[in-house]
Amino acid sequence: MNDDNKTVEPKAEDAATPVNTTKTDQQGRTLYDVKCSNCGKDTQVPFQPSGDRPVYCRDCYMQKKNA
Ligand SMILES: [Zn+2]
Repeated sequence: MNDDNKTVEPKAEDAATPVNTTKTDQQGRTLYDVKCSNCGKDTQVPFQPSGDRPVYCRDCYMQKKNA
């Protein structure tokens, strides 16, 4: 009899999954919840808002950029 094969080791990928509530984008950058300075919509930006400059959602950012 050999019971060794009953041992189940935890999967490595499970242990590697970080448990946190911080949102990140596909590049792993931290996303900060902000309100768009133009339309007031809730959005996320991949940088910490400084507070002394407007932050735009993606739509408004593209509009400003193309203006
Ligand atoms: Zn906006």
